[in-house]
Amino acid sequence: MLLKGIPVSPGYAIGSVLFLEETIIDYSKKIVDHPEEEIKRYHQAIDKTKSQLEALIQSTKKLTHPESASILSSHLAVLLDPEVKKAVEHKIVEESCNLIYAIKRVADDYIKQFNEIQDLYLRERVTDLIDVTERVIKNALNIALVDLSLINHEVILVAKDLKPSQAAQMNKKYIKGFVTQQGGKTSHSTIIAKLMGIPAIVGIKNLFEHVINGEEIILDGTKGEIHLNFDDSMKSSYQHLIDQTKSEKQSLKSFIKKKTVTKDGKEIELHANIGSNHDLPYVMDNDAEGIGLFRTELLFMDRLSMPSEDEQFEVYKDVLETMYPKPVTIRTIDIGGDKYLPYLHQEAEANPFLGKRAIRLCFDQVDFFKVQLRALLRASVHGNLKIMFPMIATKDEFLDAKDIVSEVQEELIEKNIPYHIVDLGVMIEIPAAALTADDLANAVDFFSIGTNDLIQYTFAADRNHESLGYLYQPFSPSIIKLISMVCEAAKDHKIPVSVCGEMASDLNAIPLLIGLGVDHLSMNPESILKARQLIKDFDSFDLSKLAKKALHAHDQQEVLDLVQLLKDEYKK
Ligand code: PEP
Ligand code: MG
Repeated sequence: MLLKGIPVSPGYAIGSVLFLEETIIDYSKKIVDHPEEEIKRYHQAIDKTKSQLEALIQSTKKLTHPESASILSSHLAVLLDPEVKKAVEHKIVEESCNLIYAIKRVADDYIKQFNEIQDLYLRERVTDLIDVTERVIKNALNIALVDLSLINHEVILVAKDLKPSQAAQMNKKYIKGFVTQQGGKTSHSTIIAKLMGIPAIVGIKNLFEHVINGEEIILDGTKGEIHLNFDDSMKSSYQHLIDQTKSEKQSLKSFIKKKTVTKDGKEIELHANIGSNHDLPYVMDNDAEGIGLFRTELLFMDRLSMPSEDEQFEVYKDVLETMYPKPVTIRTIDIGGDKYLPYLHQEAEANPFLGKRAIRLCFDQVDFFKVQLRALLRASVHGNLKIMFPMIATKDEFLDAKDIVSEVQEELIEKNIPYHIVDLGVMIEIPAAALTADDLANAVDFFSIGTNDLIQYTFAADRNHESLGYLYQPFSPSIIKLISMVCEAAKDHKIPVSVCGEMASDLNAIPLLIGLGVDHLSMNPESILKARQLIKDFDSFDLSKLAKKALHAHDQQEVLDLVQLLKDEYKK
């Protein structure tokens, strides 16, 4: 029997099912005689939760799960948020009610606000809020928490939803995979699973109707399927896949500390995409030649107030110092579209992806933008920084952004704060920018092509739309032509061009992108060694020929066929 869900972390596992059980808690309102006692219990529960989270952060750091540590740190921030604390205490005093009811009501109010936002990313963040709330409540009631780090035999976890703090405790040695009934592609548990390389599937609706605790199942995280009651031949073919994946990972290690070059000696730099300084160990482990995209908006999300200039400065400094002398391209905040900040004033829009997103929002809220630019420029003295603006559609937008950078520089000079002059570049992710790249190239120091958005805006199809996936066509000649125009403009003006969208790690797209003239590819750190292995077998002359042919193809399939043809020729 086969059950299907959403594949969120690739890979395969065979193992026995472990159900994660839930405790039933009484949240009803009770009138209390001594509200101050409830507040005292609240403070004790917070202290206990704080030390648990701190211990978890330390142990996840030791297990080198930096992303998990960062998620737990954001839980700590929610836990200690003065607004939340004040609201709970106020409710207890105001209504002379019990602690559990007060915490639940306050948390529910926040959750309701988040849910009303109609924002997928934020809705998934609600899980984090629920997670911290439950932890405090269970501590207040002295209920023992399920500790996944104590599991010491191989299992596949099956749960209604896996809480991020639970995911953070997973020990890869024993937790072979996880499957949930709820959850989404961008939920924190998913991010953790991907970084840890644990195969995972979410959204299997009929999961609990069929799966039995303790039975052996096969998890195919690549296809998003679980198999129940399978036969021996299926089991042995999956075992073969598991062994193969393991040995592939091992042999890729021989590409560490090697340059990325084609057979005829053309060098390509492979950079990493990161979302926080906690991702740096993955960048180092996979030997990235720089950071090509630091999506800074992740620093601003999952919290109830904006990170201060100093807080941002410390993160940027850490990344620059760790990577030095390698280059670090930091993208200014890309909020709007499907990302929303509860503490920033963002108008409701009919078409958020076509609205005040990224640089457009920063122009609208210049003071907010300047805080980030100040933190970036202050950090510039600690490494090799480049600043990149997202969603640039016109040259004037870039020049306006550059003017704001100049204003911030003047403010820093007035205060005697040192900074370095840094390269300023743009993401090319809107067709208008790609089509006028020749003019833009006069003004900017570098280009980085964001293929995820470039494809969505070229095809006018929401990149997250469940049934419009067929219009996500990276190999369409329309996309190839736009990328080619950008590369030509960059070459004519002698500026570097990078690709930092998902296409950069696609093993079929890499030969094409190099053939089109891309200098750097920036990708998920886990993909770097595989890309390095692939590139060494190609001759750059053949890749240019491939790109030229692709420019004249009729459709995506024809381009894919051309790539396959070249790969087949190399195999001969
Ligand atoms: C892109 O659009 O390709 C890109 C890299 O940016 P993001 O995925 O963050 O929008
Ligand atoms: Mg983008």
